[in-house]
Amino acid sequence: CNYSKEELLKKAKELELEFIHLQFTDILGVMKNVSITIEQLEKALNNEIMFDGSSIDGFVRIEESDMYLRPDLSTFVVFPWTNHAKEARIICDIYKSDGTPFEGCPRNTLKKVLKEAHDMGYIMNVGPECEFFLFHTDERGEPSLETHDNAGYFDLAPVDLGGNARKDMTITLKQMGFEIEASHHEVAPGQHEIDFKYEDALTTADNIMTFKMAVRIIAQRHGLHATFMPKPKFGINGSGMHINMSLATLDGKNAFYDEKDPTQLSKTAYYYLGGIIKHARSFAALTNPTVNSYKRLVPGYEAPVLIAWSASNRSPLVRIPAKRGNSTRIELRNPDPSANPYLALAAILKAGLDGIKNKIDPPAPVISNVYHMDDVEMKEKGIKSLPATLYEAVSELSKDEVIKDAIGKHIYEKFTDAALYEWYEYSKFVSQWELDRYLRKF
Ligand code: GLU
Ligand code: MG
Ligand code: MG
Repeated sequence: CNYSKEELLKKAKELELEFIHLQFTDILGVMKNVSITIEQLEKALNNEIMFDGSSIDGFVRIEESDMYLRPDLSTFVVFPWTNHAKEARIICDIYKSDGTPFEGCPRNTLKKVLKEAHDMGYIMNVGPECEFFLFHTDERGEPSLETHDNAGYFDLAPVDLGGNARKDMTITLKQMGFEIEASHHEVAPGQHEIDFKYEDALTTADNIMTFKMAVRIIAQRHGLHATFMPKPKFGINGSGMHINMSLATLDGKNAFYDEKDPTQLSKTAYYYLGGIIKHARSFAALTNPTVNSYKRLVPGYEAPVLIAWSASNRSPLVRIPAKRGNSTRIELRNPDPSANPYLALAAILKAGLDGIKNKIDPPAPVISNVYHMDDVEMKEKGIKSLPATLYEAVSELSKDEVIKDAIGKHIYEKFTDAALYEWYEYSKFVSQWELDRYLRKF
């Protein structure tokens, strides 16, 4: 809904709201929240709510820390799960005290790249597929790795114990304005997926953040812990967040569709794909931003490893789903749900736009399962693999000016510092795997 300031104030009164949560997302993809009482709402809608930016990871130093929240009224939504007081949220952009957009705000960053696309005559549409695990919690409410569920892909009750939780999640999301397209048990025990309808990229990024929040809250009510960690368990599938995307022209036509092409893809779609393939090794740092992300990107678990595309097979990086016509789109399979959706979409779009601007042709498609392609064949075909570690991804990013430009200097520096810190912490850790291998051997 697109409320004006006055309408929203009236609506809040009518609904007898008591609290408003002003939400934004930090660089690492964590949702932050400044809660105000309803009496403060008018002040908030006048963009007068200030917070201390230095207390947010990767934002700013103490001396420049006064930040303002600018609520985006179109994101107003009432929380359906509160029992006592009635509460709602509004997503905000972050502005500096001089009234200019803050460069460290991921939502501003995505808007900047969307503007670039708009100037070229395009609107980006995105439909995500968020996968997650539901684990049991112990007596103290701490998450375990237990699922008590041996269901598999598309299984139904009674084996699917998470099914009830998932049903509740779907109902809640619908109450929050989501259009749910599908919800099903995924391949691994305890793994689920709920798909919601595609929207423009900014709305989808907001929706992904809202989705994760709602799923966690509803899981908790069922005594379960929902995790969007990419690979919580060794030996079974991890959780991806496939990004289905297309560009629309400003008059609403799908710019990726051309009925005359054998795969019904337009020249624009091919160039976009060329850009995606070209920059995949460096935007991986943003679409797969954790140490754990790279444990998912291994052969054998439906997650991509090689930078190739196919019209059908699910093992390469990009797949072209069978639906054509107005739903023509490309599905990028490496992103995972630990990604900051604003930064991930900014980077992916920028890669695609670079392909269009510079007419980058994609390589020939692959037709088979590429998990078993050997190094010789890869070399012959010029196929590269995704980075094997977060470290490798961050070094690739450091060499790619196009993707660095997408996220801007401020976010690039803060993001890299955080990712490298994470990597060095991890590198020092001695794991059970090493003890099992080396303790007796050496
Ligand atoms: N869970 C798989 C992944 O890690 C994807 C399974 C699917 O194709 O939906 O990407
Ligand atoms: Mg799936
Ligand atoms: Mg998919």
